[in-house]
Amino acid sequence: MSITSTAPDADGIVVITIDAAPVNALGAEIRTALARALDVADADTTCRAIVLTGANGLFSAGADVKEFNTPRMVQEPTLRSLIAQLEQLTTPVIAAIEGTCLGGGLELALGCHYRVVHARASLGLPEVLLGLLPGAGGTQRLPRAIGVEPATDMILAGRTKSGAELHALAGQRLITALVPEGDDLLQSARLLARAVHAHRPLPRVRDWPATHAFPDAWFGFVRQQATARSARLPAAGACVTALDAAVRLPFDEALAVERAQFLQLMHGPESKALRHAFFAERAARRVAGVHANTEVRAITRVGVVGAGTMGTGIAMACLAAELPVILVERDEAALTRGLSTVRNALDPLVQRGKLSAATAKTRLDRLRGETDVQTLADVDLVIEAVFEDMTVKRSVFAELDAVVRPGAILATNTSTLDIDQIASATSRPADVVGLHFFSPAQVMKLLEVVRGTATAPDVLATAMAFARTLRKTAVIARNSDGFIGNRMFQQYTRQATFLLDAGCTPQQVDGAMERFGMAMGPFRVLDLAGNDIGWAVRKRRAVEHPDLVYSQAGDRLCEAGRFGQKVGAGWYDYLPGRRDPQPSATVQGLLASHRAAIARAPQSFTNDEIVERLVLALVNEGAALLDEGIAARASDIDVVYLLGYGFPSWRGGPMHYAEQIGLASIVRALRRLAAGPGPDPQSWLPSPLLARLAAFHGAFADLEHADG
Ligand code: NAD
Repeated sequence: MSITSTAPDADGIVVITIDAAPVNALGAEIRTALARALDVADADTTCRAIVLTGANGLFSAGADVKEFNTPRMVQEPTLRSLIAQLEQLTTPVIAAIEGTCLGGGLELALGCHYRVVHARASLGLPEVLLGLLPGAGGTQRLPRAIGVEPATDMILAGRTKSGAELHALAGQRLITALVPEGDDLLQSARLLARAVHAHRPLPRVRDWPATHAFPDAWFGFVRQQATARSARLPAAGACVTALDAAVRLPFDEALAVERAQFLQLMHGPESKALRHAFFAERAARRVAGVHANTEVRAITRVGVVGAGTMGTGIAMACLAAELPVILVERDEAALTRGLSTVRNALDPLVQRGKLSAATAKTRLDRLRGETDVQTLADVDLVIEAVFEDMTVKRSVFAELDAVVRPGAILATNTSTLDIDQIASATSRPADVVGLHFFSPAQVMKLLEVVRGTATAPDVLATAMAFARTLRKTAVIARNSDGFIGNRMFQQYTRQATFLLDAGCTPQQVDGAMERFGMAMGPFRVLDLAGNDIGWAVRKRRAVEHPDLVYSQAGDRLCEAGRFGQKVGAGWYDYLPGRRDPQPSATVQGLLASHRAAIARAPQSFTNDEIVERLVLALVNEGAALLDEGIAARASDIDVVYLLGYGFPSWRGGPMHYAEQIGLASIVRALRRLAAGPGPDPQSWLPSPLLARLAAFHGAFADLEHADG
């Protein structure tokens, strides 16, 4: 990690390079070294121009997020003082930009006098995605460089644009010279340096005007949009305030407004949660026992068995990643249905302009339908997505074992079943892994990778790499009934249905959870997934664990055929062709007779009481998963809930949320619920891990499991 400076060349040009692999983050040491290098070059009488660039194929991805909320972030020179220093130099500085130039990287470049940018470079201020705003002058300089409206759009959406796109903006002054594909960036920067080195005064972005003909109308409009889109996230509103100040106030006063807004966001709970989620996704990539440079197996052809809801979605996800797919069904009728599901899903994308007709055709050309498993002999990976039934799954795996080439990976998409039992139907359990996709599989970003007892490290490494190919985020879980996500979800919905026994309506429970921020309340989710699925799981569990206590309300619902959206009736009624839930008088009646049958007098619950129970159910089961080593880290659990179950991003996931409340308070609340009344009060007893952490003021982060 260093800053390197060349000696002045024959033209007096010094090249300063930021070299901090992998992303040239502007941490405290780099800032200090850069400030020194700039001073040295500026003081050198033989230096006539400075070219500032980045190593590793990029300019800089910005601030070092690990420094957020630490003293290193305010350690001088801060990024703001570094930019102020740049603007006071007497020697012109030309930023030479290729690859990524984001956040603090772009703010630094905006402090330079000129910018030479590669056409394919990617520039942006994505801070809003971490619940922040660009805090080193980005909200002040970008509108001056590209215009108020384009800058507002980029900053509010956290959107990046290519050098070519930005260069095409009318009146832009961000890019002094665009470097076309194939041309040498540094050579172009030197060329510009030779042309401008004698020009005075030096152009400074801060001296340019930021104007809008109708600022009241424009900022009124974007503020309204920002609040409508993310009412619970203050960052967008703060960006608008800072941009508004850029137009109305002198530069330094507006910069102070930006600073104040930044600090407020930085210390607020929302940004803290979003930053936690950011690090959690990165941490999830590390798999215990699997070395970072483990050789992965090549996946170039995929087979999918079962062309139902999941099989077709998984096939679409693979096709979107340009992988050829063979989709296998039991018979021609089911295969035809499956293939037309894929086709019908692509058509609207083409109609809405989200996919070109040519790309859709290429994808369909790569899809082959078959009714014979023999056709999978040469694929590299098979993903099984047949019925959730152990006998059926074992027979499919035995068949695959006999047919598929040695070295191929055999994966199952089971939601709950024992991976080891499935693997034992084959002669190669080391090649068997769980790839648990979420519905709709072509859309949902989460992939739970389930590690069986025998799963080989390179199979796990390949599964993680495969997730990246599909642009999904993978989280490793060990074998357990429901793995991470569904095991917690079962406790969550178990408590949700107990609330129905006690007198709540589905709409009251869903309303409380949605106000808390869940994308959908539990009963809407159950109606979407199909109530019959949970019914089948409960029947299986009733045999395997006869002591488990469940509300029978869900069984009564299924006995009445109310399987959910797919039949137009579940916990809610659905009008033909509609997906919006209507409160159901039938369900009301069904619940009333169910309560009478279990002799439960209706009770009333506040929204806070509902949220407390359901979130505590998630947290307590999450802690049990950690204790058992099913999840390797609490942050993995958060990733699963944020990406797979619609937990509000600005609360950072259930485990982060619990830590913000305080584990001691969580344990006290659990003990209160365990003291009853209500069904199965014992299940509220705090997991031993939670009780231990609370007693010793520990944190989930202390506990990363050594063996994952
Ligand atoms: P589904 O009933 O929609 O589809 C299953 C398909 O498998 C059917 O089309 C059936 O004809 C086919 N099939 C059955 N036996 C077969 C065989 N021997 N050979 C070839 N095809 C066969 O079910 P689904 O919802 O797609 O679920 C499939 C699997 O994915 C299950 O294990 C389920 O638990 C899991 N899963 C489902 C969801 C979900 O939300 N639906 C989410 C994650 C995982």
